[in-house]
Amino acid sequence: MDGTMMDFPLTLTPILERAGKLFPDVEIVTRLPDKSLHRYSYGEFHRRTHLLAAGLEDAGLKRGERVATIMWNSYAHLEAYFAVPCAGGVLHTLNFRLHENDIAYIANHAEDRFLIVDDVLLPIYERIKDKVKFERVFVVSFTGAANPDGLENYEEFLAGGRTDYAFPELDENEACAMCYTSGTTGRPKGVAYSHRAMVLHTFCAGLADTIGLTQRDVLMPVVPMFHANAWGLAHAAVMMGSKLILPGPHLDAESLLGLCDSEQVTLAAGVPTIWMGILQALEADSARWTLHPELRTVVGGSAVPEGMMRGFDRHGITTIHAWGMTETTPLGSVSRLKRGMENLSEDERYQARIKQGLPVPFVEVRVINDEGEAPWDGESMGELQVRGPWIAASYFNSEQGQDKWSEDGWFGTGDVVTIDKEGYIKITDRTKDLIKSGGEWISSVDLENALMGHDSVREAAVIAVPHEKWTERPLAVVVPMEGTEPSAEELGKYLGRDFAKWWLPDAYEFVDDIPRTSTGKFLKTALREKFAAHMWRD
Ligand code: ADP
Repeated sequence: MDGTMMDFPLTLTPILERAGKLFPDVEIVTRLPDKSLHRYSYGEFHRRTHLLAAGLEDAGLKRGERVATIMWNSYAHLEAYFAVPCAGGVLHTLNFRLHENDIAYIANHAEDRFLIVDDVLLPIYERIKDKVKFERVFVVSFTGAANPDGLENYEEFLAGGRTDYAFPELDENEACAMCYTSGTTGRPKGVAYSHRAMVLHTFCAGLADTIGLTQRDVLMPVVPMFHANAWGLAHAAVMMGSKLILPGPHLDAESLLGLCDSEQVTLAAGVPTIWMGILQALEADSARWTLHPELRTVVGGSAVPEGMMRGFDRHGITTIHAWGMTETTPLGSVSRLKRGMENLSEDERYQARIKQGLPVPFVEVRVINDEGEAPWDGESMGELQVRGPWIAASYFNSEQGQDKWSEDGWFGTGDVVTIDKEGYIKITDRTKDLIKSGGEWISSVDLENALMGHDSVREAAVIAVPHEKWTERPLAVVVPMEGTEPSAEELGKYLGRDFAKWWLPDAYEFVDDIPRTSTGKFLKTALREKFAAHMWRD
């Protein structure tokens, strides 16, 4: 027997319409390139989003056609986040930190028809413009400089939009957005998110036991809106009606702490690199800022070092550790303590909190290794496979990468994990970063986290370097804290307290900084290249 409920499609349109009706006075604040603050409300956002959608439809945007953005986090990007999909188009956020050839490849592969670009990012457009085929380009003018020839002004385009525009009825399975994975091997691959997936993902982000966003929150997504849907937080803010703070291009610790202070941010989200800088600034002089007593942070994208989590706790800021991928929209797991775990010792609680956490509702997980499905015993390692309503089932128009899906339809994440009996996932490595020494696996992530707990270590990346006898051995690349000079001997001794001898790095290289990917993670391929010819002493 069927239920007697209405067949009501899960699309982004009701989220936008409700925000316009219920929260017209809630503010959206953007830090502009000149550092001044732009303020308007959800009411204004709602009105302008309709104008943009109307303009795009009049410009000929048809169902399923892609509109690209090259934009920082701003009110205009938020308008595109809703106007494009609610008008029936697909928002394609381009990661402009990639190499220009990759950006052009991605825009062409997705067949992007229109582009919206921040004026301060026009130099990136200039570098790709001869390789791409955007039909029309709309420039958001923050600096007031004149538009280059042939490009149109975003505000003028909006001003021409019809005010009687109504959104079309959409099917929940139509795509609403696209992102490409940066992929260190092969060509970037596209993921097309459906309205249904995005809506369910947005609900999930609001749950008290995941990110727990509410209408009373002041949310600052530092994670770029061009990367993995800003972890779903921009959508969640509009669904909940939270005050939204968008930091524009200013991602330094001073600027971010300034916003936390002036806007009384209660929830901020970003990768560990960002939070490392913020922690250092707080440690240097926390009295400079008056932060909201309930400020908490969602940190993900790469593992949260324990020392960082402890450091923020000392300043009364709780770190919520989350895991996800472009292919998982991205929210996959969140580390929150279960009932009863508050009675564990402090060390045990940190051990649980720095894990990647419990799979969120509707994301099913399993661990697969050579022996098949591994038990949840906290020790058996294997690849994490996932499935669920917001997990990609394939890449967009691509032959490549389809081997990531198992025959029975699970997505292989490439992350090597253990899951404990409580269900907490712990990433020990990415498949491509594991170190194989004498037939045994060494986890680079565990060594890195331990090293970053040392007082004289600012950052550490551990990589596999070829070794004649052992196949591979670990080499640690370390950025010392300012004013310190840690020695290899001292660090080896420090690690020796917690790790078997054969796990300890055979060598330490001290550097000024560690190269990063476009999304702020350690670029281990570059390190492996740099130290490929490393000669071992034995
Ligand atoms: P890319 O693959 O280009 O880095 P993604 O953002 O899709 O882009 O990265 C997903 C990967 O990032 C995951 O497969 C995992 O290896 C890593 N990752 C994400 N969150 C965490 C986390 N909390 N801890 C450790 N690794 C993480």
